[in-house]
Amino acid sequence: MLAAGVVVRRETFGHLAYVSSRDHFFALSGAAAGVLDALGRGEPPGPVARSLAEFGILDLTPAPPPRPHYGESLIGRFDELPAVEEPLVVNCFATAHCPLQCRYCHADDLMQPARRTETDDEPSLVARMAASVPAIVAVVTGGEPLYTPWRTEVLIKELSAAGKAVVLDTSGVGELAPLLPVLHENRVHVRISLDSLDPADNDRLRVINRSYLPLGTSAGAAALRTLAEAAAAGLPTTVQSVVTSANEDVSRLRALRDGLVELGVGNWVLHVVVPAGKAALPRNRGLRPSPYVIPALAELVKMSREERVPLNIRVTGTHHVPNSVLLVGSRGDLYVERESGGKARIAGPGASRDEVVEAFRRHVNLVEHVSRYLNGSIQPFPR
Ligand code: SF4
Repeated sequence: MLAAGVVVRRETFGHLAYVSSRDHFFALSGAAAGVLDALGRGEPPGPVARSLAEFGILDLTPAPPPRPHYGESLIGRFDELPAVEEPLVVNCFATAHCPLQCRYCHADDLMQPARRTETDDEPSLVARMAASVPAIVAVVTGGEPLYTPWRTEVLIKELSAAGKAVVLDTSGVGELAPLLPVLHENRVHVRISLDSLDPADNDRLRVINRSYLPLGTSAGAAALRTLAEAAAAGLPTTVQSVVTSANEDVSRLRALRDGLVELGVGNWVLHVVVPAGKAALPRNRGLRPSPYVIPALAELVKMSREERVPLNIRVTGTHHVPNSVLLVGSRGDLYVERESGGKARIAGPGASRDEVVEAFRRHVNLVEHVSRYLNGSIQPFPR
């Protein structure tokens, strides 16, 4: 049978499978997709089932040892990244407030104007919009979801009730404890941002906002504390690191990787900084990594596979195509980043599912949307 927390969607190429314990999508074709078809018919799954169990898609008895994925998202034969008709992920604002002011914040342009006018009905508006987006996963983000736990709780419950797998995307700056019951009940994966294990290095990019936090607060130390708390509570966790000119050096990334393994982290996602929001400002141009960042990340992933590092690794490199991500703002409007900069509103809370799908196909770069969640930037297809 499917492992707990796995969501499957039929596609023209076979199936998409989202594994919530890893916060990871796999695309399955051929015999691998046939295993899921056989399961649906109540038939025995056959020999390929073992590798699906190793990746956490199936629950077999006896269970094979888990196999880390090193940038792997495609199981079966694919000559290019598969195409999808509907979104994989929708990001949902919990609040426009955030105790940090990261130098590369992609959402700053949405957060600033919404802060003074935030109202209590917003989480339900956001959830209503997200329910019309036929994405498998809803990411609760912001702003900082830990800053207003009651809003985050409402959002998680409503997104879950709408059938989404839910991810909590947090800087780790804030209290996780009030949310632990709702995170457990809804099998939420917790993704925590950390760019360096050295709090000083981390905090140079992930700067505190003095309007929210006292001087001397460390974003890096808070992230490590929240990471430990989530792991101790038995929640599945990921560390996400933004790759900028400050940390793109492979030896630095390897040191971070090894430190995460020592801390017991099982999932790591690396995002090449997207020149949107604050990262698009001229004063932050220096954060953009070199043109060689993608080959360097591909090499890091390859070395990790060869060294059998016990860590699941995913890479997103959609920095040249910002319009690859869907985001519901705090008033329940659906946005996509414009290629020319700034956010474009593509639907509102009253939109039907069909209207949302049409807007998704018209405004989102579908190839890069898939690439973002299926490790497309480091796949060895001809480009
Ligand atoms: S944690 Fe940083 S990137 Fe995230 S919303 Fe706050 S300022 Fe922006």
